[in-house]
Amino acid sequence: MTTKIRNVTVLGTGVLGSQIAYQSAFQGFPVIAYDIDDAAVALARQRFRKLVDTYRAEVPGGEDGAEAALDRIVLTTNLAQAAADADLIIEAIPEILDLKRQTYEKLGSLAPAKTIFATNSSTLLPSDLKDSTGRPDRFLALHFANKIWFSNIAEVMGTPDTDPEVFDEIVAFAEAIGMVPIQIHQEKAGYVLNTLLVPFLRAALELVAGGYAEPGDVDNTWRIGTGAPAGPFQIYDIIGLRTPYNIMAHGDADAQQLAAWLKQNYIDRGKLGLESGQGFYKYL
Ligand code: NAD
Repeated sequence: MTTKIRNVTVLGTGVLGSQIAYQSAFQGFPVIAYDIDDAAVALARQRFRKLVDTYRAEVPGGEDGAEAALDRIVLTTNLAQAAADADLIIEAIPEILDLKRQTYEKLGSLAPAKTIFATNSSTLLPSDLKDSTGRPDRFLALHFANKIWFSNIAEVMGTPDTDPEVFDEIVAFAEAIGMVPIQIHQEKAGYVLNTLLVPFLRAALELVAGGYAEPGDVDNTWRIGTGAPAGPFQIYDIIGLRTPYNIMAHGDADAQQLAAWLKQNYIDRGKLGLESGQGFYKYL
């Protein structure tokens, strides 16, 4: 399948937005990356520079293509300019319902009729946002995973209002930027990945917090028993312990107890995962 999408705009240049913008540019698309102010744009420049180094070291074709990808990205704080000729706008702004709604309301009048809007939201359903877009038939979720160049799935999930042609177009676009598209047939909180991952990680924590086994042995069991490359506690460390803590702290009573255990034994001791040099494992 080839895509008709050419001009890509990414809103928000944080952890995921910077990766989405850079990956799209690396695959040859002209990208406008929008953020709210000069400080955020300066940060984005640093993120893109880091991505150049990562792609050079880790991605096939990165040695030749990583620097050139930068030339295809235009950074701006002007939303009207960012939207003016976009075929696709991928929104990766903070996970705050009202902020996203307000942003889609603005975009609805700034973007031309051709523009498809896609949200990268992890926890909101596209149905929570569709009315604010003014174009529910050209709106859906396109959800990426952190470390997009390595964990290259893109979950595509529409609402009952999404035009099937738009859905197919986004599947084709995901492929064109080097993703494996995962088509989700109806709205599901957590998409496919988190529907599997969240209870899996919780079960692992129950084993350790309940005193049944050590993290290393749980990971060994999973790796050796299933052939998977990483165990749940290696995954915790990669994600960072704060995100699973936040999810469990808002869960049922048992989940809240697990969250409290995680906080007391790890988070409060500065063990936040890979980013802090220590989580369930120690890193140099
Ligand atoms: P982040 O906090 O790292 O980045 C958010 C960016 O949005 C910042 O650069 C901020 O300046 C900018 N921003 C704030 N207000 C804005 C506005 N009104 N318009 C445009 N930009 C604005 O957040 P993140 O982790 O990249 O998450 C962004 C989205 O991606 C969320 O919806 C989240 O659920 C989703 N997501 C995150 C991950 C992850 O692992 N971090 C994975 C998949 C999906």
